[in-house]
Amino acid sequence: MTLIADVVFDAPVRHSFSYRVPDGWTVRSGQRVRAPLRGAARIGMVVAVRDGAEEGLKPLARLVDAEPVLSKTQLDLVGWIAAQSLSSLGSTCAALLPPPVSGERDVITESPPAGADRAGAPKPAVAAAPKPALAAAPKPALLIGAGREKRVLERLETTPGAGLVIAADVEAVARWAQRLAKIDRAVRLDSGVSDDERAAAWRALRDGSARLAAGTRSALLTPLPAPATLVLIDEHEAAHKPPGAPRMHSRDVALERAAREPLALVLTAATPSAEAWWRAESGLIDMPAREPGAWPVVSVADTRGILRREPLTPPLSRAIRETLAAKRRVFLVVSRLSSSLACDECGAVVRCPECAIAFAYSRAAARLVCRVCGGSQPLPETCAACHGRRLTPFGWGAERVEHAVRRRFPDARIARWDPESSRGARGEAQRAAAAAADVVIGTRGALRLFGPGALGLAAFVAPDQLLRAPDFRAGERTLALAWAAAERVAADGALIIQSQNPGHYAFEAVARQNLGEFYRQELEFRADLGYPPFRRLAVVSVQAGQPEETRRLADAVGAALRGAKALTAYPPIADRRDRVRRIVTKGGADLPRLLDDALREFKSPSGGRGIIDVEVDPVEWPF
Ligand SMILES: [Zn+2]
Ligand SMILES: [Zn+2]
Repeated sequence: MTLIADVVFDAPVRHSFSYRVPDGWTVRSGQRVRAPLRGAARIGMVVAVRDGAEEGLKPLARLVDAEPVLSKTQLDLVGWIAAQSLSSLGSTCAALLPPPVSGERDVITESPPAGADRAGAPKPAVAAAPKPALAAAPKPALLIGAGREKRVLERLETTPGAGLVIAADVEAVARWAQRLAKIDRAVRLDSGVSDDERAAAWRALRDGSARLAAGTRSALLTPLPAPATLVLIDEHEAAHKPPGAPRMHSRDVALERAAREPLALVLTAATPSAEAWWRAESGLIDMPAREPGAWPVVSVADTRGILRREPLTPPLSRAIRETLAAKRRVFLVVSRLSSSLACDECGAVVRCPECAIAFAYSRAAARLVCRVCGGSQPLPETCAACHGRRLTPFGWGAERVEHAVRRRFPDARIARWDPESSRGARGEAQRAAAAAADVVIGTRGALRLFGPGALGLAAFVAPDQLLRAPDFRAGERTLALAWAAAERVAADGALIIQSQNPGHYAFEAVARQNLGEFYRQELEFRADLGYPPFRRLAVVSVQAGQPEETRRLADAVGAALRGAKALTAYPPIADRRDRVRRIVTKGGADLPRLLDDALREFKSPSGGRGIIDVEVDPVEWPF
């Protein structure tokens, strides 16, 4: 008998590799090691140490951590995340750990080390551990409304024990670290600090030498000695599920961790995700009621049938003039041009009759295509609702809006900022100009320039582009943006929404400062059409060399998925360049397991006919 360690690596391969533990070594699961793989000593995570009789195994090369960085409970949680997201245990581990100390960093980015060059003997991937009985922890809390972040700080100040705040991006983490430092010793667990500082912060939190910390999703598994509080800021943000492992929204990781460990979980959101709101309504999350905060006057200007040669309606022009005269700031929200079609007369959006989301419009193909079910139809001549003849993908881009504002208000300081598309030095210059401007024309990301109540006027030039997005979350995203804009306007200021859909429930909810009104209708729509939180979605992407091979493989995968019980699979849809085909699937809570079973025949080493990638619970529609 020899002592054997099973190790997983940061690579898209699902199984672990077995190595001999050299005599005299002490190795435990949850510890990182270096072990030979594909001719190099790679960093991997030990997931099991056992007695075995396998012959000819290579020995481990070196210990990376002096002691385990993941407890048994945490390793089980990582196993659950990997199983739920159909990703490799090794990549999930790597994404949720601080970088190893200097000089020990490496990442495997090549294709899976299948077949030929196996270092250790492959073993089946570690199965997800069964969920343990609920720990004695309080119900998670969802904080909404004005002052929610202040309430988080008060809570961390008055509750003993460790506190970890997870924010969506490095900029927000820096801000939170400063706030936390006013309460107690606070450390940072994100890429805004050096690797060594991050690793030290992880240890400081575990040992209790630091009480508070802020980090991004890579800090989600930081050990927190009880009693502990875990806070997820802006739980509705799509940025909490960026591409790459762990391929799960931070909200889902946090909720699962809170169910396995005795820690208090606090979520915050101005406009919760439909998923979180539904949990709160079902009694799974506490959502303390709050008095509504100050709110600006919200008006919705109906732009149906108005010839849109000019992006500013008379009421908006007047409001800009008055706001500038009062020496207050104006923010005009613009959106990227959408790729769907709507009627300029009545505002009706051309939607897929099956899926109720906007058809995507392809000028080249002169067709409308549904990005869920793949259904398509030729361009309609007239609007089905009003028989109007102006169906266009029309919208206002930032540049044209800026031009119109300059023409009318030549003396104002005007700046345009789209943080998503201008980065680097040019982005910085734009940001600086916007920070000093009287009128800022910008996309969603530019909202971060303004604190609560900082604006005299905010206006949406044509938010219909958001509502028309070919995504079932279009309503939720529109609400989130309009609500966030309203929060940044002073109580005696105004929010103007120019829309061809003035009666949309997202706008009515903002106008009346009534979130419940929005979610009642949104959840009804989600339930009727079988969207989350009532059904789970996954997108299976297939790619195999030439378009013809991809088509054949996608058809085979599609057939296998359609043959699976309790799983809905729509026909494959080709991307614009016909290199990837995507299959949208729907199922219940056990969707990941059903997909795993149905795709097994394509994932075996001998079935290497192409790349099959599964995105479970997608937040950005990947088309
Ligand atoms: Zn119409
Ligand atoms: Zn459809």
